Amino acid sequence: MTGIDERLAAVRARIANACREFGRDPAAITLVAVSKTFPAEAIAAVAARGVDNFGENYLQEAMAKIETAERLAKRRLRWHFIGHLQANKATAVASRFDWVHSVDRLRIAQRLSEHRPATLPPLQVLVQVNISGEASKAGCAPEQALGLCRTVAALPGLRLRGLMAIPAPEAADPRRPFRRLRELLERLRHDGLNLDTLSAGMSDDLEAAVAEGATMLRIGTAIFGPRR
Ligand SMILES: *Cc1c(COP(=O)(O)O)cnc(C)c1O
Repeated sequence: MTGIDERLAAVRARIANACREFGRDPAAITLVAVSKTFPAEAIAAVAARGVDNFGENYLQEAMAKIETAERLAKRRLRWHFIGHLQANKATAVASRFDWVHSVDRLRIAQRLSEHRPATLPPLQVLVQVNISGEASKAGCAPEQALGLCRTVAALPGLRLRGLMAIPAPEAADPRRPFRRLRELLERLRHDGLNLDTLSAGMSDDLEAAVAEGATMLRIGTAIFGPRR
């Protein structure tokens, strides 16, 4: 993969700069390389440069790549399902992934919990919130988050870790949607939920996300290059 060294170095520099600017500890931020549409060879190339976490959106595509990518990388990688999740895909997702960022309704959470193999640790999950209130976007409404999180936290096959969002850009104040997400997480914690993860920030807005407390950045284009 040409340009991979430069792109990954640039992403790491952006994260380091944002951490310095906003007083964040770089060790508290996990980089999830979003590898959708890119082949196993590209994933292995990024893994060879020290990235352990990969995000995929489409189950079939991911299933076809995971084994090859790990064989090429010569180690286990951590897989994050970040796409829209259909109930009939929950069994496969629960058995092959380590994290799911896109839990937005109870039925999906129940399915994931039921189908998480007992031989594996609990599936790490995030509740996706439609923080910008977009009609076209997945995610539960912010007002529903507390109820959904309480129920999900009690499911035996899952370990609820926090929230995920894909905010709509707000040019006038890029940090605003991320701030709302952080404040929602703080309210949930205040209400007794034990949450430590905020999955927010992509190639174009990672600085705003770091400024507002993101602990997982989902970066695709800035690492792998443009998607076709
Ligand atoms: C594709 C995707 C990303 C990565 O987006 P980039 O802009 O390429 O960094 C992050 N999160 C989700 C949910 C995605 O679908």
